[in-house]
Amino acid sequence: MHTTTVVIGAGHAGLAMSWWLGRRSIDHVVLERGEVANSWRTERWDSLRLLTPNWQSRLPGYGYQGDDPDGFRTMRETIDFIARYAAATSAPVRTHTNVTAVRRNGDGYEVATDQGLWQCQTVVLATGACNIAQVPALAEAVPSTIDMLTPMQYRNPDQLEEGGVLVIGASATGIQIADEIHRSGRPVTLAVGEHVRVPRVYRGKDIQWWMDAAGVLDERYDQIDDIVRARNVPSLQLVGSPERRTLDLNSLTAIGVKLVGRLAGINEGKVQFSGSLRNLCALADLKMHRLLDTIDEWAAGKTLNGEVSPPHRFDPTEVAASPPLGIDLQRGQIRTIVWATGFRPDYSWLEVPVLDRKGHVRHDGGVADVPGLYLMGIPFLRRRKSSLIDGAGDDAHDLSGHLMSYLTGNSIPRAVAQMAGR
Ligand SMILES: Cc1cc2nc3c(=O)[nH]c(=O)nc-3n(C[C@H](O)[C@H](O)[C@H](O)COP(=O)(O)OP(=O)(O)OC[C@H]3O[C@@H](n4cnc5c(N)ncnc54)[C@H](O)[C@@H]3O)c2cc1C
Repeated sequence: MHTTTVVIGAGHAGLAMSWWLGRRSIDHVVLERGEVANSWRTERWDSLRLLTPNWQSRLPGYGYQGDDPDGFRTMRETIDFIARYAAATSAPVRTHTNVTAVRRNGDGYEVATDQGLWQCQTVVLATGACNIAQVPALAEAVPSTIDMLTPMQYRNPDQLEEGGVLVIGASATGIQIADEIHRSGRPVTLAVGEHVRVPRVYRGKDIQWWMDAAGVLDERYDQIDDIVRARNVPSLQLVGSPERRTLDLNSLTAIGVKLVGRLAGINEGKVQFSGSLRNLCALADLKMHRLLDTIDEWAAGKTLNGEVSPPHRFDPTEVAASPPLGIDLQRGQIRTIVWATGFRPDYSWLEVPVLDRKGHVRHDGGVADVPGLYLMGIPFLRRRKSSLIDGAGDDAHDLSGHLMSYLTGNSIPRAVAQMAGR
């Protein structure tokens, strides 16, 4: 089978790219191993809602139509939204087609799947940034009496044994799961590393509204001093809830969650936490207030009077005088550990020499270091908003433009010949 471009992955990123390829009359298919929006269908916990408001899921040619723009979609609503987008745009998706290998073939590519082989000129990897839950190697030292699971395995508290739970990681996933499990009656201890604290609502507006309006989410990858660092910044501590509540370390402390420092080691059945908790929290408070300063400066020049309330600041994160530096896992205090320590992409099927030491694709703003190969949906790919649903449209616009120039500059005769030979 031949086509000009194979897009791998029918999440919102692959579908946004498909829309732009269609607009540019570039022949393509979208190969998807499951159903459209497969990650949202199979890899998320039951109670999860998007932490971006409904209005902030703008896809090319498609926006929010409902009467609750400030609400937060449930998983069912998110799946329906992305599936409706695929249908509305008539994206050429081939579902239940697992890509098992991508190889160079002359100046094009060969894409092997469990449904046959594709030849093409260009490939877009839109397979997601969160295919595998990252678990540190020291998990191997956890005694076998303790249950362990990742956020991709977690569905709801009922699947856990009764007893204490240690959640490692305090970004969006960790704080949401810690909150839910603690409320189920299982006492939670939360190990807190570097994190990004933000309020849900500031001066009467959603924090995402502010970051969008003030241009923070549009910052480009080539305007950032340290893009490697920016791509590794943890997710914002946020939850999407009908009441627009702020979920941060203070609200977790208020319901009885115990905060401890970053996981430092596990030795002879004892988990050790670093003594840096106070510093990490102070740094997160400082950075949050810097963001609010940026917002206030931006707002000062605008006619938002009456629409927003005056600037104010939030209480510092409360930290116990001497948080425990260790827990003996053999004493029964902890029954389960949840590793909310981040996610990474899976390119184990990519047989093109473009991966760095850590298994990430080497690229410049989504243009991979190999001709004709493109990337979508990675944190800060081209803009701060790149990993959000709302960021895919602009990235797909730019990258499909590059892809088109590549085809017309180098390879169009062959692409046309292949299309003619189908
Ligand atoms: C817990 C969590 C919460 C999030 N919350 C929000 C939020 O509130 N708002 C927001 O804007 N973003 C959110 N995100 C970020 C982002 O929107 C998601 O990561 C999103 O799923 C990324 O979209 P994508 O299209 O790049 O990848 P995915 O949605 O992961 O789509 C990739 C697709 O590729 C397919 N695929 C993978 N490998 C293969 C293969 N070998 N062959 C064929 N198909 C393959 C997968 O089945 C999948 O359908 C969240 C992410 C996570 C993990």
